[in-house]
Amino acid sequence: MIVARAWAGKRYAVLGLARSGSATVSALLAGGATVVAWDSDPNKRVHPREGGGGVEFADLDTVDLTSIDALVVSPGVPLNTHPLAAKARADGVPVIGDIELFAEARVDLPLHKVVGITGTNGKSTTTALVHHIVRTAGIPSLMGGNIGLPILAAAPLPAGGVYVLELSSYQLDLTLTLDCDVAVLLNVTPDHLDRYDGFDAYAESKARLFAMQSPTNEAVIAIGDSPSAAIARSLSARGEHLSKIAPGICMDQSRWPALQGPHNAQNALAAIAVARALGVPETAIDRGLETFIGLPHRMETVATRHGVRFVDDSKATNPESTAPALAAFERVHWIAGGRAKGDDLDACAAYFDRVVAAYTIGEAAASFFDLLKGRVPAVERAGDLATAVAHAASAARPGDVVLLSPAAASFDQFTDYVARGLAFRTAVEALP
Ligand code: ADP
Repeated sequence: MIVARAWAGKRYAVLGLARSGSATVSALLAGGATVVAWDSDPNKRVHPREGGGGVEFADLDTVDLTSIDALVVSPGVPLNTHPLAAKARADGVPVIGDIELFAEARVDLPLHKVVGITGTNGKSTTTALVHHIVRTAGIPSLMGGNIGLPILAAAPLPAGGVYVLELSSYQLDLTLTLDCDVAVLLNVTPDHLDRYDGFDAYAESKARLFAMQSPTNEAVIAIGDSPSAAIARSLSARGEHLSKIAPGICMDQSRWPALQGPHNAQNALAAIAVARALGVPETAIDRGLETFIGLPHRMETVATRHGVRFVDDSKATNPESTAPALAAFERVHWIAGGRAKGDDLDACAAYFDRVVAAYTIGEAAASFFDLLKGRVPAVERAGDLATAVAHAASAARPGDVVLLSPAAASFDQFTDYVARGLAFRTAVEALP
């Protein structure tokens, strides 16, 4: 467990007791704090096995917030609309998340480095890749943040270790003092706009990763979109401590089986820049790129049947992340839809020539059908995933790809993108 001495004797309120929330309670108690905690689900209101006496459960709406040192919320809580967050701010109580608590614990950890990775798309892939390259070099490394286990539940790394943190904008909003040794921004495109007062506010949340950083620490920014380029420009005074990754660089990716497509070229370049900033030798970087195994549900080939490849890209929940998946193949039977995040599929339009037929599903079945009709050779309003898979499979010829890359969130028909990807696999396995 990761614990800060600074928490001793303090009092915290914790809202949300899923994985990271319950790990937070345990860590705070181990650090000598007292905790008042709440989750609307009574099954989650359980005392931690060790030192559980220091936690009291109470609806935080009834708690006098002026008596607490900070309100710790899970990134799932919409800060822009949640009344408790507004009340805490009005009372001058900091609203933070587990990454901020990790930042407070750093002084008590053995000598280490922190890499923070943000962006609209590619965070998980780049985080897993950096972690893999660092480990390939024989350096102890731990992944945390939006990926893997809650960071406070982890055993501290020995001296010389590297913490690689995937940071969503929600997590950045709850982080005040994390000074990353290497901070990475991959891209900023419209997403999650229900949680922000417009696109500029969303972009601003990403920029804070660098605002929190000492200027002599390293910044790595891919400048393929204008908000990212603007953030890079604002940091130009950092000189050699700023690495910019230009879009569209052609590179030989043939030796990196899990890093295909132009988006993965960008992710790989970012990871290489991070590894160099950490002093990882070039041979380990090469070996890491070659031996990286991609993450599930990101352009993952789940089967090849009768010469047709079935690819699960369920993690593509917005048009910007679907575009590179379409770009990666020649003849695509494209399954798209779910809960749409916007009114268009413009980000994918450059690759509509790759689409042989589209099959639309979920809440967006009708709107995506209308957006695609006349722009790709055939569109079918399939409705659900199993129907789409069955129809795509019977239409596909050897050499074609059946691609689930929804360009929409999963929550209309599935609990999350993982369940959607697994349903795709099940439907493929059920094919005659
Ligand atoms: P995140 O953790 O930011 O959601 P992932 O690595 O899980 O990112 O990838 C999410 C989706 O975005 C996948 O469908 C993937 O193919 C696509 N993607 C990955 N990297 C990039 C990138 N650099 N730019 C655009 N899309 C990307």
